[in-house]
Amino acid sequence: MFDALTFAALPAGDEALRPLARQFAEEALAALPPDIRARSWSGFDQDFSRRLGAAGLLGLTLPKAYGGGARGPFARFVVVEELLAVGAPVAAHWIADRQSAPLILNFGSEAQRQTYLPAICRGELVFCIGMSEPGAGSDLAGVRTRAERTAEGWRVNGQKIWTTNAMHGDYMIALVRTSGGVEDRRAGLSQIIIDLKAPGVTVRPIADLTGDAHFAEVFFDNVDLPADALIGEEGEGWAQVTAELAFERSGPERIYSSVVLLDAWTEHLRRVGRADGAALALLGELTARLAVLRAMSIACTARLAAGESPVVEASLVKDLGTAFEQALPATIGDDLAAHPDEGVDPDLYRTLLYTTHIAPSFSLRGGTREILRGIIARGMGLR
Ligand SMILES: Cc1cc2nc3c(=O)[nH]c(=O)nc-3n(C[C@H](O)[C@H](O)[C@H](O)COP(=O)(O)OP(=O)(O)OC[C@H]3O[C@@H](n4cnc5c(N)ncnc54)[C@H](O)[C@@H]3O)c2cc1C
Repeated sequence: MFDALTFAALPAGDEALRPLARQFAEEALAALPPDIRARSWSGFDQDFSRRLGAAGLLGLTLPKAYGGGARGPFARFVVVEELLAVGAPVAAHWIADRQSAPLILNFGSEAQRQTYLPAICRGELVFCIGMSEPGAGSDLAGVRTRAERTAEGWRVNGQKIWTTNAMHGDYMIALVRTSGGVEDRRAGLSQIIIDLKAPGVTVRPIADLTGDAHFAEVFFDNVDLPADALIGEEGEGWAQVTAELAFERSGPERIYSSVVLLDAWTEHLRRVGRADGAALALLGELTARLAVLRAMSIACTARLAAGESPVVEASLVKDLGTAFEQALPATIGDDLAAHPDEGVDPDLYRTLLYTTHIAPSFSLRGGTREILRGIIARGMGLR
């Protein structure tokens, strides 16, 4: 499998997007302190997303006919990397741009594409992912939320949990059971677009360890949906979700979650003038790890650009990437604690506290470490 991850360079034509993305992000974020920028993934700013859309920086992988950039995964890599590097608030367009739009493009009807994709490219629609349930997280085949056919379309009953941005969302793409029971496992699962403003939908935010509420429980009580709410084929939900998870796990997003902290600490070293061998060795080690992960992520992107679905390789990058992201706050915290005479800027301290509290979630969201390692082991022929 490792032969598949060969070095790849970002094409010059896509690199050309970098100055625009950088300028855009830096101007928009100049006034924000690092502990706010460290929230990047959960930073919700619809105005920022709309401006990104207007600048042509969303929907880069989508065809022009739907308002997209007609470029590809490398272009998206460059833009996402620039946004995450400075901690831009990406939550309002994040899931739609990364996951929902490619899913609708690949499996949706022409009417669904026309309805949703141009608005996603403009940064106007917030989507969320309704996979997890109280009894179905790693084991998605245990999904119980049910959509039943009615004369007009579908009626949904059940519950989802940990739904990022459900409280801000326009639509959820939910994995639901349209036939059979949990004993049938993967058979009978389908994907359906749920209008979160529809009668019968209740969204209850959940606070995390940091006190922020960026995900929610969502309840469906006899929610009536039109017939064209179904995405793709009835009963094909499992295959569709597997393809969707490849988009979720293969971008550059799994290596930069703690990068605002790394940046703030580097700035601290500069400010206090600490450039001894130990500090430089640690900074060098962290930078080298990030550089290797970035090279691996670009190699994965090359596979996506070639039209492949690098599920195993993306799992490898996510597992190693989240280990790095989680190690950073502890490493930097230890370094600062070992230099008690240095005045630590309150912004750096707040950023360290926030990142320390949120880091455990990095290896849970998008599939846990253990599940990814199972996929990697299978890919290597070990299971
Ligand atoms: C910040 C955050 C955002 C999230 N956003 C969303 C979202 O938008 N939409 C959504 O649908 N979900 C979301 N989730 C949910 C996330 O995908 C699930 O939490 C995750 O898939 C794990 O499922 P679970 O919580 O049911 O844990 P479980 O599946 O019950 O797992 C518990 C533990 O057992 C381990 N385990 C389970 N099965 C195996 C196995 N076969 N082999 C080895 N170990 C195993 C797991 O690795 C884990 O350590 C989010 C989670 C977080 C933390």
